[in-house]
Amino acid sequence: MARGYEELKLDGLTLRGVSRGGVETCLMVPELGLMFDVGMCPRGAIKFDRVLVSHGHADHLGGLFYLLSQRSLMRRGAPDVYVPREILEPLQTIAAQWSAIEDFELPVRFWPCDPEQAIALGDGLEALPLRSVHRVASLAYVISRTTQRLRSEFVGRPGPELAQLRRSGVRLTSPESTPILCVSGDTQIELFLGDARVRQSRVLVHEVTAWDGKRDRASTREWGHTHVDEMIACAERFEGDTLVLVHRSLRHSRADAERIVRERFPATIRDKVVVFGY
Ligand SMILES: [Zn+2]
Ligand SMILES: [Zn+2]
Repeated sequence: MARGYEELKLDGLTLRGVSRGGVETCLMVPELGLMFDVGMCPRGAIKFDRVLVSHGHADHLGGLFYLLSQRSLMRRGAPDVYVPREILEPLQTIAAQWSAIEDFELPVRFWPCDPEQAIALGDGLEALPLRSVHRVASLAYVISRTTQRLRSEFVGRPGPELAQLRRSGVRLTSPESTPILCVSGDTQIELFLGDARVRQSRVLVHEVTAWDGKRDRASTREWGHTHVDEMIACAERFEGDTLVLVHRSLRHSRADAERIVRERFPATIRDKVVVFGY
């Protein structure tokens, strides 16, 4: 296993990559063909043609130009990189300068994102950027899947009758959208507290950077992050299936974090909580 590389199998989704606060965060979800942030471009990252970027801090985006360079060597073409609108221009400037250094055009398509402006990803998938609360412009993303469901008035009717209705032009189905995944990026707890769409995602990947009293709530908030005490206080409001806690600072071991989940999270939510990141 390569440095820091980790894989978590969830119901229908795999979460793969690395996440340590201030060091490196890159999360890949192969079933969706999506990567969240780039980190330092960990193993497997260059295969992803679509990247959703939460914000421009180097632990999340420092590996971008290495990724582009590697993809170019492998002739993988330009990836679609979705970024907060506020960092589009600086990234374009760096891309141009880096292309000058390398003496070839680094292949990339940047797409500026705004809160509440949905991104169509094809195959019934959509990403909705939400404004998260960090020291720089930052976005969380909610990924929803829309499927066609049999309308309630037709449930239980025999197949031949439904076929007849369909032939006569009756619409039997209606679209139903399910939030399957939300990735918070770096944020204070206000994102979770203030937005039901975050709490209702089936899988929520949320940052908890500080896990003990050595860095208290106030200084954690000052740096735009979430303290475990804040998450413990509101975790029961999570309505989904799995709450994955990422971006733990290097000061706290995984064993410490898992012990805190067992001992301090409310019993009603504890079994849904997973610590990710070595
Ligand atoms: Zn970070
Ligand atoms: Zn950050």
